[in-house]
Amino acid sequence: MTAVRHLLARAGQALLDDGRDLTPAELAELAGLPDAAVPSLAALAHEVRLARLGPTVELEGILSAKTGGCPEDCHFCAQSARFETPVRATPPLDLDQLLRAARQTAALGASEFCIVMALRGPSERIVDRVLEAAGLIRAETGLQVAASLGILAPGQARRLAEGGVHRYNHNLETARSFFPRVVSAHTWQERFDTCLRVREAGMELCSGVLLGMGESPAQRVELLGQLRELGPAEVPVNFLDPRPGTPLAERPLVGPLEAIRWIALFRLALPGVILRYAGGREITLRELQAMGLTAGINALIIGNYLTTLGRPPEEDLRMLDDLRMPIGALSGPL
Ligand code: SF4
Repeated sequence: MTAVRHLLARAGQALLDDGRDLTPAELAELAGLPDAAVPSLAALAHEVRLARLGPTVELEGILSAKTGGCPEDCHFCAQSARFETPVRATPPLDLDQLLRAARQTAALGASEFCIVMALRGPSERIVDRVLEAAGLIRAETGLQVAASLGILAPGQARRLAEGGVHRYNHNLETARSFFPRVVSAHTWQERFDTCLRVREAGMELCSGVLLGMGESPAQRVELLGQLRELGPAEVPVNFLDPRPGTPLAERPLVGPLEAIRWIALFRLALPGVILRYAGGREITLRELQAMGLTAGINALIIGNYLTTLGRPPEEDLRMLDDLRMPIGALSGPL
């Protein structure tokens, strides 16, 4: 264990004392620590989170405002029209439905509400509708409004920013080197370019990952480097919840302790970001869900996900109360 202690001490010194980012080689070494060292890795990640961002946890509600029927072929996604999944395409929700969901989100103490649509990218009409909804939601609930509408043209990113959408979600999902294994209808570069556009337009970038699709530890470290290039304010961490009918339906789940290891590594690699628990956490982490919040996580999606059910919000609120972690708004990167 002397070698483990040495590696952790060096990482702690870099992040907490010297203000230096860990190198890819250091992250790869930490990724290879034995299982027995994962709680110590988590403890270091927690210390870094508290030092950089304090104990506050940000809550966000997400709403699928247009579900299913997507022309793209992301192998993990039940909303692709190319796979035989139980998800049926439904028309976009109307303004009343969006407002009702936003009110429910605000009542839970959340500060963020994200409007999500299953699209390759939005038409101008969709952008108009989202801007109209964003204005009403902000005025009525005080929630900050985020959007996730797929690949954006440059003018669209500007319109959303000027219309008051403060954060835009577009996930890199996985490393550039692994992406062609799971998506062929668009390229990793198209995703990266949309993320750059979001930043150029002045919105906060939320760019998440999906772990457990068959990528190697080295590819996860590669992904961390690519996220660093983008400088996101927020990184939602999803774990694959293999959906029936998708090409990844038979993949095994990430193990709970392995999930904690990677949450901690994401915090150590991206010390100032809002690191959000997202889809797949309940079935992946099971009894270790609270441990993620002492391993670097400082934000939650509360309530249901896009096509899967989350656990009841009351359970998450109790978990935060038990951990003595206050709920509030965050903005990054810090
Ligand atoms: S992940 Fe998004 S772009 Fe890909 S199939 Fe699903 S909804 Fe479409």
